[in-house]
Amino acid sequence: MSTIELKQATKKYGDFVAARDVDLSVKKGEVVCLLGPSGCGKTTTLRMIAGLERITSGEVIVAGQRMNDLPPEKRDIAMVFQFYALYPALTVGENIAMPLHHEKISATEMKSRVDKVAEILHLGSVLNRLPGQVSEGEKQRVAVARAIVRDPNCFLFDEPLSRLDVELRHSMRGQIKQVLANLSKATVIVTHDQLEALTMADRIAIMKDGIIEQVGTPHEVFAKPANVFVGSFIGTPQMNLVEAKLSKFEKGKASINFNGQDIEITTNERVGKLNSPKITIGIRPRAFTAESKASNENIQAVAELIEPMGAETLVHARTKGGNDIRVVVPRENRVKVGEALHLRPDPAQTHVFGENGKAVRL
Ligand code: ATP
Repeated sequence: MSTIELKQATKKYGDFVAARDVDLSVKKGEVVCLLGPSGCGKTTTLRMIAGLERITSGEVIVAGQRMNDLPPEKRDIAMVFQFYALYPALTVGENIAMPLHHEKISATEMKSRVDKVAEILHLGSVLNRLPGQVSEGEKQRVAVARAIVRDPNCFLFDEPLSRLDVELRHSMRGQIKQVLANLSKATVIVTHDQLEALTMADRIAIMKDGIIEQVGTPHEVFAKPANVFVGSFIGTPQMNLVEAKLSKFEKGKASINFNGQDIEITTNERVGKLNSPKITIGIRPRAFTAESKASNENIQAVAELIEPMGAETLVHARTKGGNDIRVVVPRENRVKVGEALHLRPDPAQTHVFGENGKAVRL
């Protein structure tokens, strides 16, 4: 059984709570990314699992065994750090073999295990070179090879790709994902790069101020953000978030004052049951249809800045109330600066958040 479980895990440094009541479980063969802004507690959470931080309260369970009091070396966990240090005087093959020296295995067995992981990570041709004689991408793969050679219970990666350039990151994401899929272990990856999380993870845990705000598949966290923070954090360009006032709710339609303009949006029944009229409307930049004339179901705005993005164009438009709305349109639409836009939000992609910032769901 290869699983990771955190139950109400908390880490305090003096009075400061770096991770609070973290509940997380990672199944065998599952990759969970911890994603969030700098300082939100991702690395602290990873280090609690690894045993590099003693947890203040709660439980860490790996493969069914309570780990709270076990030192890192007894947890049978392999960790790949952002700053992977390879031994410069040892060959790539010797670097990969390092973790095996603690195991009582023959030289032949050791060679066969190193050869096997080298094959998985396409390092066979550089095994006899020194780290100084291989590329950054290959060094990164050596660090991964060194972690998987031992067949540990689970894997922890801390920003594994952040040192690589954009192109290499892109190809390494795919390669690591493929390797992990074949190994069938519980894996936790820390990243602050949402693209990395969206492409590599089976589930993403989004953190803020030491708290997990939402755990879900990449699709769930994008399509059904639990709160304003997750809505704004996931997706590029960023979701438009506008504070609005609910004036009426009738037959599935909410009448709201949206930035100086009264509009009607089709939304879910729960919106009609909110206690407070103060809401935040979240609309993704790709969730608008540009209509030919103004109506009470579209938002009036004026195009102010046009940013070509290849096949699409990002338009910054100013609403009556002075808010900047980001709208992505196909390149062919040729929106011009100063043009009046009538933007109808897609009801299926219009998120309503209550005064407490939580998504209003059916
Ligand atoms: P980053 O993406 O910048 O690495 P992170 O999400 O991994 O950030 P952590 O390293 O887990 O964040 O840190 C969480 C918070 O705990 C931060 O505010 C950090 O300053 C604080 N912190 C971390 N280690 C210690 C420590 N040893 N003593 C006091 N505070 C600490």
